[in-house]
Amino acid sequence: MAPLRNIVILTGAGISAESGIDTFRSAGGLWEQHKVEDVATPEGFARDPDLVLRFYDMRRAAIQTKTPNPAHEALAKLDGAWGGELLIVTQNVDDLHERAGATRVLHMHGEHLNAWCAACDARPRWTEPLIHRPPCPACGEPALRPDVVWFGEVPYEMDRIHAALREADLFVSIGTSGAVYPAAGFVRNARSLGAQTLELNLEASQGSRWFDETRLGPASEVVPAWVDELLGG
Ligand SMILES: [Zn+2]
Repeated sequence: MAPLRNIVILTGAGISAESGIDTFRSAGGLWEQHKVEDVATPEGFARDPDLVLRFYDMRRAAIQTKTPNPAHEALAKLDGAWGGELLIVTQNVDDLHERAGATRVLHMHGEHLNAWCAACDARPRWTEPLIHRPPCPACGEPALRPDVVWFGEVPYEMDRIHAALREADLFVSIGTSGAVYPAAGFVRNARSLGAQTLELNLEASQGSRWFDETRLGPASEVVPAWVDELLGG
C-alpha cells in the first residue's frame, strides 16, 4: 500500500456532542423547542428576525462555556504533527477544533463566533449578542446576522473541499450521520478517486456502507486511538 500523505477529515455533531453541544439531529428535530424552519432558514429569519437573533445569541453564549474533548485534542495533535496535507472540514459551527489547537480547519457551515454583514459582506469575529442590532465594524450599518449556513443556503468553500478530496489518500468521517448532502457525497467522491475511507462514529450510519472501514464508539475514545495508530505507524 502506498504511504499516506494527504488526509481529509470531515467532522460533524458527534465530535462535539461529548462536549455538551447538541444539534437538531441529536434533539430529534427540535432545538430548544424551535423548529428547524423557524430558526435555521432565511425565510424564518425574514419572518421573525428577533426570534432568530435571540436564538443564536443563546447558542453563541453557550458554546463559549464548553470545552474541547479528547477527540478535538487528538485531531489538533495530528494537525500539528502531520507533515503531509491535512484538512479538517467541519460541519460544526462551534470553535472547539481551534480551541484544542487545530489550525487547518474549514467551517463549511459557518461559525457561531462570526457575524456576517448583509450590507457590506464583512465577516467580523463576534462573541457578543446581536439582538440589539449593533453596527457593523466595517460599514456601520446595523445589518449583522449570524454567519451560519442555514438550510437552503450553500455551504462555504466547496471548491476548496473538492480540491482537497481530489488529492486525498485518506478520507475520514467522524461523528456525522452521513445523511446530509453535500457532505454525504464526500466519501463517494474520495473513494472514486482512489482514497482509502474510514468512518469513526458512535453507531453505524446510513453512509457506513460507502466506507472501507467503520470503527464504532464514542469519539473521545475512537479518535485518539486512531490518531495514535496513525502517528505511531
Ligand atoms: Zn458591514
